[in-house]
Amino acid sequence: MADNQPAEMIPCLDLKRQHASVRNEIFSAFEEVYAQTAFSGGPWVERFEKEFAAFTGTPYAVGVNNGTTALHLAMLALGIGPGDEVIIPANTFIATAWGVSHAGATPVFVDCRHDTWEMDAGQIAAAITPRTRAVIGVHLYGQPFDVDAVLHVCREHNLFLVEDAAQAQGARYKGQRAGGFGELACYSFYPGKNLGACGEAGGITTRHEVYDRHLRSLRNHGSTVRYYHDEIGYNYRMGGLEGASLSVKLKYLEAWNNRRRAIAARYHEEMINTDVRLQAQPEWAESIYHLFVVTVQDRDRFITHLQARGIQPALHYPVPCHLQKAYLHLGHKPGDFPNSEYLAAHCVSLPMFAELTDDEVQRVIDAVNAYT
Ligand SMILES: *Cc1c(COP(=O)(O)O)cnc(C)c1O
Repeated sequence: MADNQPAEMIPCLDLKRQHASVRNEIFSAFEEVYAQTAFSGGPWVERFEKEFAAFTGTPYAVGVNNGTTALHLAMLALGIGPGDEVIIPANTFIATAWGVSHAGATPVFVDCRHDTWEMDAGQIAAAITPRTRAVIGVHLYGQPFDVDAVLHVCREHNLFLVEDAAQAQGARYKGQRAGGFGELACYSFYPGKNLGACGEAGGITTRHEVYDRHLRSLRNHGSTVRYYHDEIGYNYRMGGLEGASLSVKLKYLEAWNNRRRAIAARYHEEMINTDVRLQAQPEWAESIYHLFVVTVQDRDRFITHLQARGIQPALHYPVPCHLQKAYLHLGHKPGDFPNSEYLAAHCVSLPMFAELTDDEVQRVIDAVNAYT
């Protein structure tokens, strides 16, 4: 590139680079699915379920059509419904709350910690009522929440723990893979996630056979024997093309996650601008950096500064769940969850994906350090 040419804009996420690298392998898998017309469920979904169970170190994995339906079925499998309450963090992608609402139950929000930005286990007890049935902990941005602290509260009050691991395929808590700690763990394989399908997909892992069996029936019209329906079910099956694409990409997930971790290590080490705060990382948390979020006091000015240097950041997420219009009826107001609200108003997501070049990583670091 000539010196006088502007450098390419560095996006927050570029899916094209990853998909160029696995194109041939995925297209030949698609040929096989197509030849067998195994478009809904079938052998490629079953194969991915086995591989993903092995990857997460849990005995059972059930493929579904997206992460939101995974959360919905998790609630149903636990028998959660109208009149029940489920505690979730206020700072998460809104779909964590959808599963609760779709089951007819009520999400009850708690604040995050000011340093790790993960669910604050110390705030759960005060949110518990006689109607509380479960806690959904979110491994937000790919970094595990403090599972032991949350599990402790759950055991004390006889509540189920569900993990929302949509952003954390492969993350570890105290050395063990996320997804095996709760009763159930829910995943999204939306294309933009660390493990994303060529299409929409999701999944649920569990250590309990009884949930596995029930989830397989619920996702398939409440049926285990064709045309016999034991309960009102759903069509939440995973597609065969999605399953086949996930099997191909799962082989590379560990390498892709490791590359993200190496980039994050450089960000943490080399970003020395004290006006830019990074997520605190407890030593027991092994993040897979689905997102690399920082906070700054004057976000608009920071974004303008980055854009002028060829960097396109994003916001995850600008409005916390409790202040979304969809949950107006819960009666929350600004000030209820100050840490979540601070984060929503000051967060900025920097470029983070495995295919970032070392030069691009350097440009991001230089731009952040040049901000005054
Ligand atoms: C992506 C995501 C979901 C929802 O998954 P979809 O596949 O988009 O339905 C749920 N929770 C979190 C934390 C997510 O990031």
